[in-house]
Amino acid sequence: MTPTQLLIAGQWQPAAAEATRDIICPIDERVIAQAAEADRMDTRRAIAAARHAFDHGPWRETNIRERARLLHRIADLVDRDAEHLAWLESLNTGKTLTESRTDMGDIAATFRYFGALVAGESGAVNEAPHHVISRTLREPVGVCALITPWNYPLLQAAWKIAPALGAGNTVVLKPSELTPLTTLHLARLLGELDLPPGVFNLVTGGAEVGAELAASLDVDLVSFTGGAAAGRHIMKAAADSNFKRVALELGGKNPNIVFADADLDIAVDRALDAAFFHAGQVCSAGSRLLVEDTVHDAFVERLAARMARIAVGSGLEAGTQMGPVQSAAQRARLMAMVEQAVSEGARVLTGGCAPQGESFRHGFWLAPTLVTGVTESMTIAREEIFGPVLAVERFSGETEALRLANGTPYGLAGAVWTRDLARAARMTRAMRFGTVWVNDYHPYFPEAPWGGFKGSGIGRELARIGLDEYTELKHSYINLAPAASGWFGA
Ligand code: NAD
Repeated sequence: MTPTQLLIAGQWQPAAAEATRDIICPIDERVIAQAAEADRMDTRRAIAAARHAFDHGPWRETNIRERARLLHRIADLVDRDAEHLAWLESLNTGKTLTESRTDMGDIAATFRYFGALVAGESGAVNEAPHHVISRTLREPVGVCALITPWNYPLLQAAWKIAPALGAGNTVVLKPSELTPLTTLHLARLLGELDLPPGVFNLVTGGAEVGAELAASLDVDLVSFTGGAAAGRHIMKAAADSNFKRVALELGGKNPNIVFADADLDIAVDRALDAAFFHAGQVCSAGSRLLVEDTVHDAFVERLAARMARIAVGSGLEAGTQMGPVQSAAQRARLMAMVEQAVSEGARVLTGGCAPQGESFRHGFWLAPTLVTGVTESMTIAREEIFGPVLAVERFSGETEALRLANGTPYGLAGAVWTRDLARAARMTRAMRFGTVWVNDYHPYFPEAPWGGFKGSGIGRELARIGLDEYTELKHSYINLAPAASGWFGA
């Protein structure tokens, strides 16, 4: 097996220490690749390449039409290789091919969206005295470190690469050490385009690489998606180094609230999507289901019946609806969480272990799990789950629903199911989350902003603001008729 390489200054190369890391398929625990494992020195070389390309290269001066064209060409290449990329993403993350194909469509759409946005970029002319030209200009921030997680490897990368390159920055990208394969393929696709060397660098490796990026004086911005612990390190490192711009997309504890007046057939159906899409390994997963007490028991009964029919298996096979979780550590953490919920008084109605059968002997399997009788003080109601475990709490009335929903340090996303539009509007305004869905769960698209309130992060991705995050504002003031001020006398 030939190890993958790092992309630094336009050259593919092994890690200097020639270290590698096994990449494991979560479906059967096979080693599917060996990735170059970069260290601090490799990371510094990549940063230096990006710094040089920004400070001395032609890239930041490139015409916006050319940058927009580049983003559209990347979208076309993603479309061209979509089937291979989807297969690779499923192999590495365990998500179903259907889910990965959806990701690839979203990735191409993201590049096209930012391509269109960049093409329409222009500064503003400000009102000023007649002898002055005052303009507000948007300029690239500089060297951007992009750090991504393992659950949506290529999608998260696209949300960052498209606006970063579109705005004229140079990039050092570090994918999760667990799932680098599609990002590596995208880097090869970028090699088909005429990007100047050093504009896009890819460094595979673990926390050491991320920490070096966050602490470097030569990095101007770090955009991170991942967990709170790493996010905290990054913010501290930024403050201790050069106050680089920090954008954080962190975890969630997302309430999915079902009122008794909702269309319960649809609410049951979509509660499954909310909780078990990509085996619940979604930052916005609706793993905290709040059901109004008058319909609670009937709702839970229907949910359990539907959950028993979820087709769990290899996502590479047709008909599979849910794959494994991504790693052994992840499964162990989830099972410990379910055990703790039981010890705190909750009940496991279904799941809590691997599904039965020979095909589940290898791989990181956990059956869709339903935990009921959950109350707000339990750990499972407070901490992010990030797996196929759905915890159900009951509530009585709108005030209690709101108190429970907002009673979390996170604020990424939440949903409300009701036929009462006035209530929908009240709940939407009162819920402290970056996204609030009404009578739906999970939709997102490049045109709408994504990000969290409170502990779910800082900044926004996608939408107009997702491009602005990668720019600095400059006030340009040109005096056409300079004159002595006389302030200190003639
Ligand atoms: P993680 O924090 O363990 O790792 C994320 C990335 O950070 C990886 O590339 C990792 O190598 C790197 N990293 C780890 N320690 C670091 C450090 N000290 N300094 C710099 N980089 C470091 O997260 P994960 O387990 O890969 O992903 C799961 C988490 O991501 C969940 O909490 C999930 O909610 C969150 N997430 C959030 C969003 C969002 O849009 N808000 C999207 C996807 C995932």
